[in-house]
Amino acid sequence: MPLYEYACRSCGARFEVLQRMGADSTGVICPKCGGTEVAKQLSTFASAVAGGGSAMPCGAPNASACGSGGFS
Ligand SMILES: [Zn+2]
Repeated sequence: MPLYEYACRSCGARFEVLQRMGADSTGVICPKCGGTEVAKQLSTFASAVAGGGSAMPCGAPNASACGSGGFS
């Protein structure tokens, strides 16, 4: 399952949630304040490679195919 990054609109916390591909933010709850007003961020993959210089280090279209996951 891909790991999605969310930002809480109430407290500003950022957190990651494992969800099925294409899942929306329904049912996602901020772990810090318990708020349900959360916004899905575009991708942890994009920010992860931003510092590396290489856009597609593994040639895969998304992060879940790239690594083994498990960072958190
Ligand atoms: Zn929050």
